[in-house]
Amino acid sequence: TPKAETYEFQTEVKQLLNIIINSLYSNKEIFLRELISNASDAIDKASFQAQTDPDILGDDTEFKIKLAADKENKTLTVSDNGIGMTKDEVKENLGTIAKSGTAAFLEALEKSRKEDALTPELIGQFGVGFYSAFIAADKVTVVTRAAGEQSATRWESAGDGSYTIEETDKPGRGTDVILHLSPKVLEDEDFTEEWTIRRIVKRHSDFVRYPVVMDVEREEPETDADGNPVEGGEKKKVVREETLNSMKAIWAKNKNEITDEEYNDFYSHICHDWNPPLDRMHIKLEGMTEYTALLYIPSQAPFDLFSPERQHGVQLYSRRVFIMENCRELLPEYLRFIRGVVDAPDLNLNISRELLQQDALVRNIRKNLVKKILEKLENMDGDTFEKFYNEFGAVLKEGVYSDFENRDRLTKLIRYKTTKSEDKWRSLTEYVNDMKSDQNHIYYITGDNLSAMLNSPHLEALKEKDYEVLLMTDPVDEFVVQTLTEFEGKTLQSAEKGDLDIDETDEKQSETYADLFTKIQGYLDETVKSVKPSSHLKNSVSCLSGDAYDMSAYMEKLLKASGQ
Ligand code: ADP
Ligand code: MG
Repeated sequence: TPKAETYEFQTEVKQLLNIIINSLYSNKEIFLRELISNASDAIDKASFQAQTDPDILGDDTEFKIKLAADKENKTLTVSDNGIGMTKDEVKENLGTIAKSGTAAFLEALEKSRKEDALTPELIGQFGVGFYSAFIAADKVTVVTRAAGEQSATRWESAGDGSYTIEETDKPGRGTDVILHLSPKVLEDEDFTEEWTIRRIVKRHSDFVRYPVVMDVEREEPETDADGNPVEGGEKKKVVREETLNSMKAIWAKNKNEITDEEYNDFYSHICHDWNPPLDRMHIKLEGMTEYTALLYIPSQAPFDLFSPERQHGVQLYSRRVFIMENCRELLPEYLRFIRGVVDAPDLNLNISRELLQQDALVRNIRKNLVKKILEKLENMDGDTFEKFYNEFGAVLKEGVYSDFENRDRLTKLIRYKTTKSEDKWRSLTEYVNDMKSDQNHIYYITGDNLSAMLNSPHLEALKEKDYEVLLMTDPVDEFVVQTLTEFEGKTLQSAEKGDLDIDETDEKQSETYADLFTKIQGYLDETVKSVKPSSHLKNSVSCLSGDAYDMSAYMEKLLKASGQ
């Protein structure tokens, strides 16, 4: 028999395990939700692969997640007949954190630890799910067999820094996660108790799309051959497999049959976000392009919103059959913060991810969804829109340069803080309405530090004229102003570069001080292109400035930071 090999956890895993065990204890029941969600993901993968390779399922085609409690041995087992894992995958998935954004996560973790305990929201967002098993268990055993493989792998750890791996046997495909419940935890809450398990599954995993089953023992009256109870007969114990979750597809129901709480629970379930969403859209479109969508706008931006590997939040279904997670093709990048479900009954079930983008139906749905989402944002009340904009405004702005078709609508939706707004958001429409009668342009300045921008010498002359200046603080603004050159007939003009076009003194001054400027130019020849009188300044003596078509100082900084 092969011997077990011992491995050390990656340092980050050790750190994480410590934090999880210590700070999630008051929410300990979430471990079950995490393990069920992993089981469900594993079945998704098996089901997806079976679409092109049905043989991998053999005769084990009835997908389910089974919970089994053993009171005597104090264990709780979560089993699935999903894709399983090979030995290498076990080492990769249950010994390291291979995910993108790990650094960002650990940083957020540090921060949240300083302020308070680690929140379950944070854990959920990052999906460190599996390790939460160690909140309830002092030892975890995983027995797993990958689809199409003969041998299985046994992984075991006490969560203390190392784990063991050995080859083993397992009758079918899939994974068993066996929790050896710690005596301390069992004293607080008995996770082998049927009603405890039922309650937790109902609470956290009701919408899981595969049956979560458990064998339950009941006393039933004796029955005769026709199945009728025998009078005075003996009761006997029978074991039946019961399904604990409802698996209901709430998007398929009518709006008036769904409560706010159900909508919010469903959001939490699919998004792993325990803050209620900011808003939602439940759309049913009939006709040529038929689809149902239940989309949510989260109340908080995820920490990795700007990471390139960030996954999209829309799941694709066809007639309630799950097709895929993170369906990028359904929404443009600048709406990547939207979460939810789209069910397209006429979708070709065997369509590959590659072909999805060219699919006419998918393209029509996408176009329609964008329209609906923009309508939603346009009609939001001021407070809600402000909350939305604080979280997702920077992403929405990407649409101004990437979605030509909707540029005008998006331009009206974007907001900026300004030299006059006192930290409030202003729309371009408001700006233009309040322009001074002699003002010809919409002025803006870019940078990453609001107070430095407010005190920039470039703004002195504009302040004197009492002109408002947009304060553009997001990296994307640099791209926005390259595309958005005018709004309602007014051109956008950088306050830092080129001519401000506010009065005609430039030429006269140039003549008067021509000698002085030539002299200064002589000293600075190596470092600056030219020395000129500036219309930007009022109190300061000099400032650095760019030509109208030069990069802004902030753009230069951004490019340098990205190594270009
Ligand atoms: P996440 O689910 O967000 O990826 P987890 O920590 O919950 O993070 O799980 C880590 C990885 O371990 C999963 O991505 C998956 O590859 C693997 N895994 C966990 N549980 C199972 C399971 N029941 N079957 C197959 N693979 C699993
Ligand atoms: Mg998980």
